[in-house]
Amino acid sequence: MEQLLIHTDRLNNQQDSMLATITRLCDINSGTLNVAGVERVSNALVKLFEVLGGDLQLIDTDPWTVVGDDGKRTEQKLGKIIHIIKHPDAPKKVMLCIHCDTVYGIDNDFQKCQMTAGGQLNGPGVADAKGGLIVMLEALKTLEASELAGKIGWEVIINPDEEVGSPGSASFLRSRASGCDFGLLFEPALPGGGLVSWRKGTGNFTFVVRGKSAHSGRDFASGRNAIVALARLMDEIDQLNIEPDVTYNVGRITGGGAVNIVPELAVGRVNVRVCNLEQQSGVEIDFADLVEKYNQLDGISVELTGSFSSPPKALEDNVKPLQNRITQCAEALGIDVTWQGTGGACDGNKFASAGLPNIDTLGPCGGHIHSVHEFLIPESLVPRAKLASLILLSYAAEA
Ligand SMILES: [Zn+2]
Repeated sequence: MEQLLIHTDRLNNQQDSMLATITRLCDINSGTLNVAGVERVSNALVKLFEVLGGDLQLIDTDPWTVVGDDGKRTEQKLGKIIHIIKHPDAPKKVMLCIHCDTVYGIDNDFQKCQMTAGGQLNGPGVADAKGGLIVMLEALKTLEASELAGKIGWEVIINPDEEVGSPGSASFLRSRASGCDFGLLFEPALPGGGLVSWRKGTGNFTFVVRGKSAHSGRDFASGRNAIVALARLMDEIDQLNIEPDVTYNVGRITGGGAVNIVPELAVGRVNVRVCNLEQQSGVEIDFADLVEKYNQLDGISVELTGSFSSPPKALEDNVKPLQNRITQCAEALGIDVTWQGTGGACDGNKFASAGLPNIDTLGPCGGHIHSVHEFLIPESLVPRAKLASLILLSYAAEA
């Protein structure tokens, strides 16, 4: 390990230039649904990653069907996936992946970066995950600049839709999982610098309830109230919150119109989190039962869409060697590494469910992600780039 450290010296003075590149990327809005903005960031990333060589392709995402508040299904356009393959004939291969979209839409007030008085970079996507993109880039540059380049092959996937659950890129991620030995994903490290060992699984579910409209004065009895049925259904779902491991969040309801009309449509949206596949199938069975029960009500129909897009990521035995490698690399660099679980899900869940062991928080340290207070700790950029470099170098040295 010690003799590999010298290769990471090239990163010693890179903090300012990494910070400048991250700022440039974050000042371009790439909210998932801002496809033009995602494309601009994507173009900038292609220029940055082209210097690594390798076969770079832009891949179309799958169509994403969304259910609107009017209960109708429409297709939502998403950006493209950047896919790079280098040294495909090497016997060992590593997957590196992170997303380029953010949660901040084009109409959000939070659009530009600024340095805070405390010396942090505050801006949309600085930690989640444009900082991670640049950490990943610098790690690959370090590997390719060393004499170990070519000892291992690698693949990069940069997807444009992680913040909405990767509906358009999940099938591509899964299709590439089996070709690599392990995966490194560059979501931000936890605020104290910790890495994530296990993650809950998550799914979003939409219940479209249809009843029958009627005049509330003249013809009330012939109406069938979709809002009331939905409210009862959502209450039953909320009452499933009996064990802390499995949570049901009734997150959004819409429906109705003028108050003198019995409402014929109501839509309820629920986010569910589970720790294991058994809990996941339990939820699926409970939801199917509830839909059947409410479909038997006179004049009411219920339609359910959604699924567990990110299955739970348990701490499997096959990820332990990678964890050990990361701990050793961190020790060599004098970085403290702690491991903890989280209720949040990411593309690491999808790779894990497709059989690819991975660690998914190798990005820089930061916090308050998904809020206007999102920040990145500039001093973490070089150490995290060195850590990712050393993981690759140590694997290459064994090849
Ligand atoms: Zn992220």
